[in-house]
Amino acid sequence: MPGAKAGSNGSTHIVAVIGGATAGAEVAGRLAEHGCVVVVFEQNPRPYGKIEDGLPSWHVALRRKEYDGIRAKLSHPNVHFVPNTKIGRDVDFDDLANHWGFSAVVLANGAWCDRGLPIEGADAYVGKGLVYQNPFVISFNHQDDPHYAGERFDYPDGCIVVGGGLASIDVSKILMLENVKRVLTERGIETSIHELEVKGIPKILEGHGLAYEDLGLAGCTLYYRRRVEDMPLMEAPEGADEARLEKVRNGRARMLAKAQEKYRFDVEPLCAPDELIVEDGRLVGIRFRRTKIENGRVIPTDDTFEARGTWVISSIGSIPEAIPGIPMKGELFAFADWEYGHIDGFPTLFSVGNVVTGKGNIVASRKHAAQVSKEAIEKFLGISDRAGDVDSSVASPAAQAARATADHVAAKLGEAPSAETLAEILQRVQERQKAVGYPGQLAAWIEQVGEPA
Ligand SMILES: Cc1cc2nc3c(=O)[nH]c(=O)nc-3n(C[C@H](O)[C@H](O)[C@H](O)COP(=O)(O)OP(=O)(O)OC[C@H]3O[C@@H](n4cnc5c(N)ncnc54)[C@H](O)[C@@H]3O)c2cc1C
Repeated sequence: MPGAKAGSNGSTHIVAVIGGATAGAEVAGRLAEHGCVVVVFEQNPRPYGKIEDGLPSWHVALRRKEYDGIRAKLSHPNVHFVPNTKIGRDVDFDDLANHWGFSAVVLANGAWCDRGLPIEGADAYVGKGLVYQNPFVISFNHQDDPHYAGERFDYPDGCIVVGGGLASIDVSKILMLENVKRVLTERGIETSIHELEVKGIPKILEGHGLAYEDLGLAGCTLYYRRRVEDMPLMEAPEGADEARLEKVRNGRARMLAKAQEKYRFDVEPLCAPDELIVEDGRLVGIRFRRTKIENGRVIPTDDTFEARGTWVISSIGSIPEAIPGIPMKGELFAFADWEYGHIDGFPTLFSVGNVVTGKGNIVASRKHAAQVSKEAIEKFLGISDRAGDVDSSVASPAAQAARATADHVAAKLGEAPSAETLAEILQRVQERQKAVGYPGQLAAWIEQVGEPA
């Protein structure tokens, strides 16, 4: 095995990573560099995760840069990529974690389920007026991809968007950009989503002697349960004082105002969805309840109002998709610690990226994966050659507790599999790769399935 390094018992560690995108590729690349053999199971053909399916397609340069970074890490000779393989469907999780013989298993499977619209019975209207953010954005990103087999959506004018985070602003932008493009096309004016996004709607219209009001669009409205300045568009640093918090709040309000000016969507803050408005078996709107904020908490008031729209698009956050065999606590995995993502009953399991941080942010996923790899997985495997670069005096008590857990587990279970088990695992991996038509090299595979359109 090129570059594979012997572990403490003279054999080589082999680690399974579930999910090959930002976080999974980061941890796989690091472990491979340390001489481990890494098997990356990815449910999709390509390993780009939310970069391909979440981050809107107008981020052309960022998407390209992230694809290149992921591919480079997964192209390490010690990494075995297994595409089109969903853990929990194609491979049993308990079998993988407890019986294949891996030294460790890393969950890097992100957050792919939409949090449900919090009104009882709402999901009965999915496809009948109710749309969730994830499939909507995936469809937008793949609209020019003839091979895309998932659900496809169009972009009606006059939608209600329920949300408040960055992704809900992207949903509002998609609706506005697509509607303006459509009306301009009807008037014989050719433009692109990319151009509209970069320059903003008013500027493009101005170039054609038009104003937004001339287009006759209703536009979409984003309904948010807190104040504009509470929108999580910008994070306050840990331990920020009141003056800093005020700056962050003002920054958020400015960011939102700028987005509204450029993309012309409306925002209705301080209201929470309360009741469905259904006509002829179809969701046609939402009754919202006005809210107020007291000591940072959302307090419902007695005031309600009705909003009607062509569709209701719910964009209130993504949660991990359950994997049969992994215990859940509510809508999340039942992590025994949130620093390294241990789960009771799976002593060799770690978790990295969005699946455990809950942060929809590329840099946060990558940093978390590097941190967990360095502080926990590499120590657990006894392959850390940088033990000195973690300053435990500044780590949180939770981190220290988790590190103690990892050290404890390492003392008991840090053995690499025997050479025979290693060969058996690689045999199983090759069989699966063959079954999905993987040619053995990532570059050849990407050529086979194509880069995202
Ligand atoms: C609309 C939208 C806009 C965004 N905009 C930005 C932005 O502007 N800036 C920013 O920093 N971030 C943005 N993000 C968030 C960012 O893209 C993600 O937070 C980040 O890419 C997550 O990386 P990850 O590796 O943790 O998870 P993911 O990218 O979700 O990777 C998880 C991987 O695991 C795979 N997987 C899942 N389940 C299984 C399974 N059971 N078996 C095998 N494989 C599995 C998935 O296919 C995926 O490849 C946006 C997200 C969305 C939805």
